Amino acid sequence: MLARYFDYNATTPLGGDARRAMEPYLEGQYGNPMTSHRFGEAPRAAIAAAREDVLDCLGTDAATSRVVLNGGATEGLNHALKGIALRAWRGGRPGPRRRIVLGAIEHVGVKRPAQWLAERFGFETVVVPVDSTGVIDVDRFLEALDPDRTAVAALHWANNEVGTIQPVGELGSACRERGIPFLCDAVQVVGKLDLGSTMEFCDAVALSAHKFYGPKGTGALVLRREVELDPLLHGATQEDGLRAGTHAVANIVGQGVAARRATEQRPHEAPRVERLRNLLWSRIEDQVDEVHWNGRGAPLLVGTLNMSFLGCPSSELCDELDRRGFAISAGAACRSGDPRPSENLMAMGLGEARALSSVRVSLGHGTSEDQVRELADALADVVRLLRARN
Ligand code: PLP
Repeated sequence: MLARYFDYNATTPLGGDARRAMEPYLEGQYGNPMTSHRFGEAPRAAIAAAREDVLDCLGTDAATSRVVLNGGATEGLNHALKGIALRAWRGGRPGPRRRIVLGAIEHVGVKRPAQWLAERFGFETVVVPVDSTGVIDVDRFLEALDPDRTAVAALHWANNEVGTIQPVGELGSACRERGIPFLCDAVQVVGKLDLGSTMEFCDAVALSAHKFYGPKGTGALVLRREVELDPLLHGATQEDGLRAGTHAVANIVGQGVAARRATEQRPHEAPRVERLRNLLWSRIEDQVDEVHWNGRGAPLLVGTLNMSFLGCPSSELCDELDRRGFAISAGAACRSGDPRPSENLMAMGLGEARALSSVRVSLGHGTSEDQVRELADALADVVRLLRARN
């Protein structure tokens, strides 16, 4: 049985160009880039090129922004939030800017460090609600941006579970006007949206290579030069002392190439994937009653389709499809065995019945029209089966 992958928001396979570019650094070029002898030269040059690729991907340059190469977006988000917030903490005393503003459906890589900063250091978190499609309440976000009290504001560009795209340009610019650092989790948008003016409204941007056909466990935190933050990992002088630890050279090289390819391929790949997503929905809608497209009506990521099939528990849908060779997920990662409804769908006010019967399908480079038709038909069949059984 052929396995069909429909979980590109969870991770993507490593792209061929990225893998080929990584190979020399897994074999002959094993030098430490921090060494001054000849073995360090090629790795050092490759890291410098990869850094440029990441800057280019966000339409910025080394004069405006710097790249902190790291172990992925969870690290980047933790680094930015803690590094900026705790900078306001001087001599063991809290400064006046103790508020952290964040959206209600941020990734846990933002929510958990914000909670930790509140619990351990007394920061105030303001969690701004979203509407039923997942779009942030712009007025409430703006109200929370008090320049005298706000240390940092965070909003993801697009949600991993529903695909909702947030008005980051507007809110990032509002933060800039007020002198509040704006952190954007851009993990889900590389290769899907035009990122050419990102650093005009963002101060810190977190990326994860494995979401755009790069290697896992590798990412970048891109910072405007004027952003001041403390390191998360203290040690040697890598990354200007902001991220100590020997570079994962091959991964960094893979990330650079993947970022470049994502930008190059976006103009033709994004519309192709969007067409497939729409085909999937219409074929499902034709065959199934009582199905909701969650997030519909908001601007959505091209390849994400989150649906609720009333009467069908998400975990049973995922498991039965997996038995038939289709990999989809319920929420952020397959929630089989987890009886709780998705935090994000609940925050959108969809209610337990819809949240507990929701699945996410996410499409990418390897998705074909035939695969989409097969998935739609299999989903319709599984829904009929589960509804008859439950
Ligand atoms: N932010 C979003 C929106 C994500 O989808 C993910 C991963 O699922 C992350 C952050 C964290 O990325 P990583 O697990 O690669 O650190």
